Amino acid sequence: SKETGRDAITVFDTSMRERIERRVEIERTLRTAIERGEIGVAYQPVVSWPDGRVLGVEALARWTKGTERVAPTEFIDVAEESGLIIPLGAFVLDEALRQVAWMRANIPSAKDMYASVNVSPRQLQSDDFADIVAETLHRHHLPGGALFLEITESVMMGDTLAAASAMTALTSLDVRLSVDDFGTGFSSLSYLKRFPVDVVKIDRSFVSGLAHDESDASLVAAIIKMANALGLATIAEGVETHEQARRLIELGCTKMQGYLFSAPVPMGELVETVQAIGG
Ligand code: C2E
Ligand code: CA
Ligand code: CA
Ligand code: CA
Repeated sequence: SKETGRDAITVFDTSMRERIERRVEIERTLRTAIERGEIGVAYQPVVSWPDGRVLGVEALARWTKGTERVAPTEFIDVAEESGLIIPLGAFVLDEALRQVAWMRANIPSAKDMYASVNVSPRQLQSDDFADIVAETLHRHHLPGGALFLEITESVMMGDTLAAASAMTALTSLDVRLSVDDFGTGFSSLSYLKRFPVDVVKIDRSFVSGLAHDESDASLVAAIIKMANALGLATIAEGVETHEQARRLIELGCTKMQGYLFSAPVPMGELVETVQAIGG
């Protein structure tokens, strides 16, 4: 009836307006969140398995707003669209490199450890991105080899010229590149060949079905074979069970991340976490 139709519209309008208001609120408060010290970084070990060596740590932005935690999936999108990803990304890079410089200097088993930092398309396409990276490495007295940058497939599809020249500048600093969430976007072999990528990160959505879903298992097997054929390493994301880890090793992927080893932890828990994994 007319009545229900109007109600449906009202409900739709309300939730739509709430979503928009939430976005506006996030953008407004994100502007000052860094200065207020509300943004932090959590670290998730990248583990060589089954030997348990911690190869590096992925830096993941965290936002605690009063008592509320805002999910990265929510604020990263807003940051990307508003351009705030530029200062936010520079902050995460600086924090991550400070942390890794400290670990390298103070923990014997971490002397070659790297930081892996997520980079959004907007950052990679900004003119001075490679300069900021070089300057931040320099500030922390770190070689380029101490840093991986994680890019998504969309970067390689977008403004490929700007992205390609940034990637070339970064690789000349010895910074390595990983393709994040591999298999979820518009993956193409030609991108992997065309860009100076070192690592393919196998998305969690394929890893989760590995032990019971045959099509996931063949997909993962295909990604690993393809990466190897191109001379690229693989890291499996979202490994939660020993069974998944075992299957990955069988398929030739011995680098992994996931709750099986550790969730992302705050800086203050990282040393203990790394030592617990390494045995
Ligand atoms: P991502 O780069 O794919 O990061 C992996 C996500 O999976 C993280 O979520 C991590 O907490 C979660 N995770 C790790 N292991 C497991 C597991 O075993 N099981 C499950 N279910 N989840 C696991 P998080 O921290 O919420 O980050 C979400 C996304 O936000 C990231 O996905 C990344 O795309 C983006 N992000 C986070 N920090 C940054 C940043 O500093 N810069 C940029 N550009 N993006 C960021
Ligand atoms: Ca990532
Ligand atoms: Ca990922
Ligand atoms: Ca993701």
